Amino acid sequence: MTLTLPPEQLKSLQASDSGAYQPIWSVFIKDDDIQVERPYTPLYGIDNEGRMSFWVKKYPKGEVGRWLHGKTEGDRIEIRGPITTWPWQDGMWDEVVMISGGTGITPFVQLWSTIISSPDHSPNTRFTLLHSSPSSDELPPAEVLSPLLAYAAERPERLKVQFFVDQDAKALPSLPPSATPAVGRINRAALEKVLYPNGTGSSWWRRLFSTSTTSQEQQNSQRRVLFLVCGPEPMIGALAGPYGRNFSQGPVGGVLKELGYDSTQVYKL
Ligand SMILES: Cc1cc2nc3c(=O)[nH]c(=O)nc-3n(C[C@H](O)[C@H](O)[C@H](O)COP(=O)(O)OP(=O)(O)OC[C@H]3O[C@@H](n4cnc5c(N)ncnc54)[C@H](O)[C@@H]3O)c2cc1C
Repeated sequence: MTLTLPPEQLKSLQASDSGAYQPIWSVFIKDDDIQVERPYTPLYGIDNEGRMSFWVKKYPKGEVGRWLHGKTEGDRIEIRGPITTWPWQDGMWDEVVMISGGTGITPFVQLWSTIISSPDHSPNTRFTLLHSSPSSDELPPAEVLSPLLAYAAERPERLKVQFFVDQDAKALPSLPPSATPAVGRINRAALEKVLYPNGTGSSWWRRLFSTSTTSQEQQNSQRRVLFLVCGPEPMIGALAGPYGRNFSQGPVGGVLKELGYDSTQVYKL
């Protein structure tokens, strides 16, 4: 779905400081039938014509999603923003692992379209996207995934993408074979595979039984690694620990805590 700012809003946007549109940002969309607003993430930011593209999922009992899907071309809706979801900063990280479930992929599509795909931003940072959906049919639509996968195929040293489904993994006709999901959840083994692709992890049993530290392990421990996690709360809880009170981050828990990462390296979107 595409939303376009009215001309007068676009003019004031163009005259304003564009710093507020640094990724990752979202806008609140207001369902004016019930006066409720929810945040949504423009997949590719905002273009010069004031257009923003969204992937909005419709849940059977979801209020705003159903309301938005009922809109037709030319309808006007109220939005508020931009709201910074999490501010990207160049030069901070060697490796960024993005973990998403369901529509939680949308902030990472924005990060890809504005930062990862640009040679001007952190050119030496490696990115991995691990995305999970309940089944192959519930993966994000091909128009969202195709550009991302095409980029990953072209620049595997910059971006790696892996999909996971709870069951029913199948190759999707509209996507390349590399997009065929693995069956299972994103878990410790999946993260270790990303972090230690050569199998040279620093898990407790390796440290216990190894007498010397290999240069690969030294490199691993010095890498500046960031995890961004966005998805359903049970997934966030299992991987990074639950949110704290009043939408605060809460301590790092779950698999990432077991792996030794702390709140400077983990952000729950
Ligand atoms: C920063 C941010 C950015 C977001 N960007 C997007 C985006 O780009 N696209 C998008 O579709 N959503 C996005 N969301 C989620 C969005 O804000 C709403 O929470 C979502 O659309 C559900 O709202 P609703 O009013 O339709 O459903 P609600 O009325 O809030 O929920 C009704 C029922 O729907 C089901 N449900 C709702 N959300 C989920 C879920 N995530 N997983 C499983 N079941 C669920 C539950 O059964 C729930 O009880 C974002 C959220 C945040 C915090």
